[in-house]
Amino acid sequence: MRTLITNGTIVTADGSYRGDVLVDGELIALIGADLAAAGVTADQTIDATGKYVIPGGIDAHTHMELPFGGTFAKDTFETGSRAAAFGGTTAIVDFAVQSKGQALRTGLDVWQAKAEGNTVIDYGFHMIMSDVTDDTLVEMDQLVAEGVPDFKLFTAYPGVFLSPDDHIFRAMQQTRKNGGLIMMHAENGPVIDVVAAQLVAEGKTDPYYHGVARYPIFEGEATGRVIRLAEAAGAPVYIVHMSSKDALDELRAARDRGALAFGETCPQYLFLSLEDMGNGFEGSKFVCSPPLRPKDPHWDELWSALRRDDLQLVATDHCPFDFHGQKELGRGDFRKVPNGLPAVEDRVDLVHDGGVVGGRISKERWVEVVSTAPAKMFGMYPKKGAIAVGSDADIVVYDPNRKRVISAATHHMDVDYSCYEGRTVQGAPDVVMSRGSVVVRDGEFLGRKGHGQFIKRGSADYARLA
Ligand SMILES: [Zn+2]
Repeated sequence: MRTLITNGTIVTADGSYRGDVLVDGELIALIGADLAAAGVTADQTIDATGKYVIPGGIDAHTHMELPFGGTFAKDTFETGSRAAAFGGTTAIVDFAVQSKGQALRTGLDVWQAKAEGNTVIDYGFHMIMSDVTDDTLVEMDQLVAEGVPDFKLFTAYPGVFLSPDDHIFRAMQQTRKNGGLIMMHAENGPVIDVVAAQLVAEGKTDPYYHGVARYPIFEGEATGRVIRLAEAAGAPVYIVHMSSKDALDELRAARDRGALAFGETCPQYLFLSLEDMGNGFEGSKFVCSPPLRPKDPHWDELWSALRRDDLQLVATDHCPFDFHGQKELGRGDFRKVPNGLPAVEDRVDLVHDGGVVGGRISKERWVEVVSTAPAKMFGMYPKKGAIAVGSDADIVVYDPNRKRVISAATHHMDVDYSCYEGRTVQGAPDVVMSRGSVVVRDGEFLGRKGHGQFIKRGSADYARLA
């Protein structure tokens, strides 16, 4: 099957130009001007006049079917990856979970089984480590060799995911040897729990107080601490879902002194604020960790950091729970609200609208933060994240002018609300192609469950040499 995409503006992280793209089988075979006039033939032609031709989005932080707080994130690999495709995302990297006392392998096998045969776009895994032991340290080396080179640890969630500093440090030392990358959820969980308990004792049990309890300074403190541990271990470190100026200050200072420290943020920290958590229990729709922050000064600081590459990319931390029946587990105590938001479908459009249309970043930087940078950071480039000969034909024909209204009534995520209900965004995908197959076209799903393949990713060389 050969597909010719004609007359589009090819937008990459490096620059933009007019051109045609020939897809042959699963790969990009040729790029050039007026390929049809030059005698190139194809089975189908997609006219991209007036549209962008971009590498498919890569969401490097999703939690499909994650067990959390006595329930499960609602999207399965099928529904979640399908929703991602509708939103112009053609690859996800999800988090397999090692439960305490288990082997990493056991957790990875469970997540592979959830995804295999069910996913409509390509997928990879990071590994959440709940235990750092002599055995799991050895296992890390095997996982790096098998294309699962990143390991997420937490300074939050005491008793569940939290790793003490000595465990974090040992895992970092191991990645120094094996070429892997440590990802950190950096908030001071034990101290947050003290404040949360005090608030509840005062009768402040609404979801809003979830946002109040998790001070920005607790994120800043943990961010600075884990970056310094990584520097001491001689290993790179990647901070997930950064939400606050306090944390950014630590990241920027570290990068200025030459540390191999990297960060992601998420749409919820760029477009939603602590005020959204008011309005009684409705605020539970916005409970995630780190929490939403006051707009000032955090939004501008995050955009500035994205512009300057102190933050490398935007991922979602997609982890949806229904308002009815799931978020409701936290009625009367914000500490029991399952943490997480739906976002995988809206990321590419939100960052286009707020970033490019909003005049905060260039369209090239947009492509970089939603696709190319995650591909590089996580060992998939240039197979993914590029419009280049030989790359996977994960391509989105994107209309930068079309407007749509975000709503739970029309989204494809399996969750009963949207954090962005009623918001109009400018920019939307017309055609979404995964390894040469059209999976979404003009709002219609043409893909297939099981089309998605496991991405065996390379070790974290980019994080060492960037
Ligand atoms: Zn996460």
